[in-house]
Amino acid sequence: MTVYPLPAADLKGEGMTSQRARDRLVAILREGGIRDPRVIEVIRNLPRHHFIDQALHSRAYENDALPIGHGQTISQPWVVARMTEALIEFGIPQKVLEIGTGSGYQAAVLAALVPQVFTVERIEALLRQARRRFRQLGLTNLRSRYDDGKLGWADEAPFDAIILTAAGDTIPTRILDQLGPTGVLVAPVGSPSRQTLIRMRGDGQGDFIQEELGAVSFVPLLGGIG
Ligand code: SAH
Repeated sequence: MTVYPLPAADLKGEGMTSQRARDRLVAILREGGIRDPRVIEVIRNLPRHHFIDQALHSRAYENDALPIGHGQTISQPWVVARMTEALIEFGIPQKVLEIGTGSGYQAAVLAALVPQVFTVERIEALLRQARRRFRQLGLTNLRSRYDDGKLGWADEAPFDAIILTAAGDTIPTRILDQLGPTGVLVAPVGSPSRQTLIRMRGDGQGDFIQEELGAVSFVPLLGGIG
């Protein structure tokens, strides 16, 4: 597993971005029912403040979604943890597709756990920023693309797992078509005011087993590029 180096100032354990702040966040996740130790360790080690504007650094380890500009948000840590846990529960997928790079945080969490991550974002400025963060953290098993994620990433399909971090009223068929026969997909589905986190698992025969994992709140999955 990747261990992210902390800036010297953070190691003192005093600041709002300290290891202590991350440990507090991990305690909140555990109280919220997150159990997978692999996910817990990645979230403990990954500097979330690296993925948000400096003005919000003091809130980086609170269990809240935060604005990242362009009307978008970095997801709430509990939601990132829950979705990641749901995605890897049946085994570590080799190749994962994420739709909605945003800040890059969810993609970086995945990159610490799985061999290959592909992530698509429709707002170029956000993608450029996320790429810079991936480089700074030395994440080399992650590829990103500026495109309408509703189209998936056809050249790299099939994927063992797909995660959508923006909500549509359905899962676009083009995306579902890129999931391997026993692949796992986790996505928020519903209207802006009422969304459910769903997990679909291919049964190997062309059908899916679908489960509901609870209520969530995501920014909308939009069409085209921004
Ligand atoms: N995973 C992100 C969450 C960002 S919010 C993180 O960890 O920070 C969801 C993101 O999905 C936004 O950046 C938004 O621009 C993007 N998005 C919405 N519709 C999209 C689409 N059709 N294709 C690609 N990205 C999309």
